[in-house]
Amino acid sequence: FLITISELANRMSVKKNKVVEIITQLELNNISNDILDQETAQLISEEMGYKVILHLDNKTEFLLLKNRNINHIQKILPRAPIVTIMGHVDHGKTSLLDKICSTKVVNQEFGGITQHIGAYSVFTKNGKIIFIDTPGHSAFTAMRARGAQITDIIILVIAVDDGVMPQTIEAIKHAFLAKVPIIVAINKIDKSENNINHIKKDLLKYEIISEDFGGETMFIPVSAKTGKGLKNLLQAILLQAEMLELKSDYEGMATGVVIESFLDKGYGPTVSIIILEGCLKKGDVCICGMEYGKIRVIHNENRQEITKASPSMPVLIYGLSGLPRTGEKLIVVKNEKKAREVSIYRKFKLREKEFLSKKQKNIENLFQNLKKDTNKILNIVLKADTYGSLEAILDSISNLTHTAFEVNILSSGIGAITETDVSLSINTRSILIGFNVRADLTAKRIIEIEKLDLRYYSIIYNLLDDIKLCLKGLSTPIK
Ligand code: GDP
Repeated sequence: FLITISELANRMSVKKNKVVEIITQLELNNISNDILDQETAQLISEEMGYKVILHLDNKTEFLLLKNRNINHIQKILPRAPIVTIMGHVDHGKTSLLDKICSTKVVNQEFGGITQHIGAYSVFTKNGKIIFIDTPGHSAFTAMRARGAQITDIIILVIAVDDGVMPQTIEAIKHAFLAKVPIIVAINKIDKSENNINHIKKDLLKYEIISEDFGGETMFIPVSAKTGKGLKNLLQAILLQAEMLELKSDYEGMATGVVIESFLDKGYGPTVSIIILEGCLKKGDVCICGMEYGKIRVIHNENRQEITKASPSMPVLIYGLSGLPRTGEKLIVVKNEKKAREVSIYRKFKLREKEFLSKKQKNIENLFQNLKKDTNKILNIVLKADTYGSLEAILDSISNLTHTAFEVNILSSGIGAITETDVSLSINTRSILIGFNVRADLTAKRIIEIEKLDLRYYSIIYNLLDDIKLCLKGLSTPIK
């Protein structure tokens, strides 16, 4: 991803000089030819009070910059730490989390049944802690894969009688890569306490140095069975959090990260998120991965309706168009139309990626296919006026069931049918389809000379009906 200084200035609606000024201030001397890479552009935008959230399609995110000027709506306050428990299987991750949360479950008025939303808040005298309930390391990895970093502290659970094991090392690697501090919880000390020093020595290899060995990592002996040491562990988490100086803006437009999403019979798409920044309000319009929507209802983790949510809070939201994946980012935007456009665009991009990889395979097999049974493949080159209609058409085509022919979308895109589309069509004997778009002059001339099969549509049903006829072999696909 590259962007010119002028373009960046443009997207933030500021003068180019202003951006240059910031570059000088930040002493970013290594910029050549006015072109900025992603990190530099991000740094500059953030310095200028803009919030940058990157996704698959960086361009789209930059379009959102204008909405997210946080200069005048900031209220930075401390927030609760978000903690993930990791460790080798059977070392007691689940037991530890259960024990920590058990007091809370008993205290609440909902008969002890907590709705599983993937995160729990634990209240202590000295502050609140949010625990992410991840089975194994998968959710953590899923989040990292989408660039979402919500864990502030990792609790590395090691069973005293088992010591450092492969998944212990894996967890350490995760923590290092994500630059998240570790607190080691030596578990099952009701069995024995003999091995603690041995574990500390073992961990030196991985640069995890306990405080009594001159390092900075806290080692807390605990028992998930008896509850011994748990208070110390919570204390250690709050201490570590204090050192991290975790703070967020409590007033601006919210951002968050998806923990889980599922379909609720009554509510439809239900998404549990943790708020990272800002204040999420009922009625806010948001984009979340490839989905978007207006938030109809917000529930806290006890499924009580609330009207707004602040940083570090795990909440359930209802009103999104579908189910985003774990680790997907949620951002509130001002404009519902824009949210919808971005959602459609992202879906289209994904689609395109899938089609491209399929196309690649198709091209590789093209000669074979042509040799094999030309008449059984219906190649299509498709152009449309909007991503929305393109999406809808591709969707419907992929849902067609047929036997006689295989549909093969060789290329699809937005805009008029051009010479490139036409040459692809000649080489692959494809039908050219224009949905609410026409062929340009050059293309038209070649189409006439080559007598290519060009079809225009403005109604998806008509297009599909024709394709179905072709598939049944009732209409000759290629002239
Ligand atoms: P996970 O795979 O890391 O989630 O481990 P679990 O929480 O499922 O625990 C694995 C086994 O260890 C279970 O049989 C637990 O009852 C047991 N266990 C967990 N914590 C303790 C502990 O502190 N003391 C003892 N004695 N057993 C424990």
